This record gives sequence, C-alpha cells and structure tokens, in this order.
Amino acid sequence: MIINSLVEVAKGVVKKPSTVEFPENKETLDDTYRGMHKLDMNTCINCQACARICPNQTIKMVEADIPTAFHKDTNPKLFPEIDLERCLFCALCEEVCPTDCLILTKITEYEVYDRRDLIKRPEDLE
Ligand code: SF4
Ligand code: SF4
Repeated sequence: MIINSLVEVAKGVVKKPSTVEFPENKETLDDTYRGMHKLDMNTCINCQACARICPNQTIKMVEADIPTAFHKDTNPKLFPEIDLERCLFCALCEEVCPTDCLILTKITEYEVYDRRDLIKRPEDLE
C-alpha cells in the first residue's frame, strides 16, 4: 500500500505539468482555430448582414467616423462592434459578409482586466 502511494508520488514528480506557463510558453494552435475578428472598414458596405446572422447578438452596428471615398454617401456610417465575451467564434459573420471585410483571425491573446474592454469598436478591429 505504502509502496503504491510512493510510486504514484514519484510519477507525479517526474511527469510534465499538464498546463503550460503562459505567457512564456504558449500552446500551438490548430489550423482551424478561430480568434479575434479583423475588419476592413474601407470595404465594409454597412449591410448589417453580420449583425443579423449572429446567433448570440454579439454584433451591434455602431457609428464610426471613418471618411473614405467608398463611404462618402453613406450616412450614418454603421460598422460592426463586437463583444468578444459573447462571441461563439462560429464564423457565421465571416461567411455571410458579402465583401469579405470581416474575418476571424488566429489572434487569441486579448485578455483584459475589465470585461468592458472585450467590446471591440470597429476601429479596434482594423
Ligand atoms: S463568430 Fe459567430 S458569435 Fe461571433 S460575432 Fe461572428 S456570428 Fe457572432
Ligand atoms: S462587416 Fe460585412 S456583413 Fe458586416 S456590415 Fe460590413 S459588409 Fe456587411
């Protein structure tokens, strides 16, 4: 009995830790991993398709003052604002976007101290 316990203790001492020491060590992400969104405001046509298809009401269309030639006749200019705390990373918004201006990247490091900072304005996503 005691020997078995000692063997288990010895195994625990020599085995690798099951977690990594972040941020010094980072796990390798799978190719299919989805992270934070990226938005190209120059090619967004403000169609709101991304906000409508989102299954978790993660996207809110908000005004952003980005004067570009493409948007000169659009008033107001509404672009997606994304609440990463609510996001399921399902990529439906990316799939539905008609101009491919909204994509999910491999960026996964967006930890914050204040959860309100997880709400990303259009400018934050560029
Ligand atoms: S990835 Fe899915 S949950 Fe996240 S914003 Fe896009 S549609 Fe919504
Ligand atoms: S990001 Fe794409 S789907 Fe969303 S409003 Fe802009 S063009 Fe439309």
